[in-house]
Amino acid sequence: MPRSYVKEARRRGVGSKRERIGPIVARLKRAHPDATIALRSRSELELLVAVMLSAQTTDVNVNRVTERLFVKYRRPEDYLAVPVEELERDIYQTGFFRQKAKSIRGTMRMLIEEFDGQVPRRLEELVRLPGVARKTANVVAAELGDPQGVVVDTHVRRLSQRLALTRQEDPVKIERDLARLVPRAEWGVFPHLLIWHGRRVCIARAPRCEDCVLSDLCPSSRV
Ligand code: SF4
Repeated sequence: MPRSYVKEARRRGVGSKRERIGPIVARLKRAHPDATIALRSRSELELLVAVMLSAQTTDVNVNRVTERLFVKYRRPEDYLAVPVEELERDIYQTGFFRQKAKSIRGTMRMLIEEFDGQVPRRLEELVRLPGVARKTANVVAAELGDPQGVVVDTHVRRLSQRLALTRQEDPVKIERDLARLVPRAEWGVFPHLLIWHGRRVCIARAPRCEDCVLSDLCPSSRV
């Protein structure tokens, strides 16, 4: 449990989270210089759709689907010009296709009616789009160059708990803790660093602590 990681951090004397956050970010940047979003997109609209499709599936799966999707659907109007069943078929492989098709069409309608067909940049506007939850909005805002929060996904949650950067379980509370701790200039890159470290090294069931650049800063290290 995260609470015990915090106790373990004290017991091991790895330092407070405020003392450790600078070296943690610097070392992760050196270890994962390629840590960026894995979803492929060539425009703000494609980015928004790709992030919406990525719920409950892998980025690889989304990229496979969007390779064809983005050739066919280029403008918000294109998503509304076909019957909903056709859009559902086109995104079927990403799972939850009925809900996702409904959200995408609702979002496209609002983009046309309220945002001149453009993707808004403010978090409070992004979360008004149908089917766009806070995590999706945070990812889009960060990729558009203006992070207004810290993205918390399953990797970010696991690693920030193991590193005793938070003792919270709820993603909104974890985000609040990380936003207080991580310098604002790093809000965009920090989740990518944790995500890539979580995929490559701090794997959920079998963390490779012996190969981890954070082992002396981590209260959960097994070495
Ligand atoms: S030392 Fe182990 S538990 Fe800690 S971040 Fe590295 S891999 Fe994860």
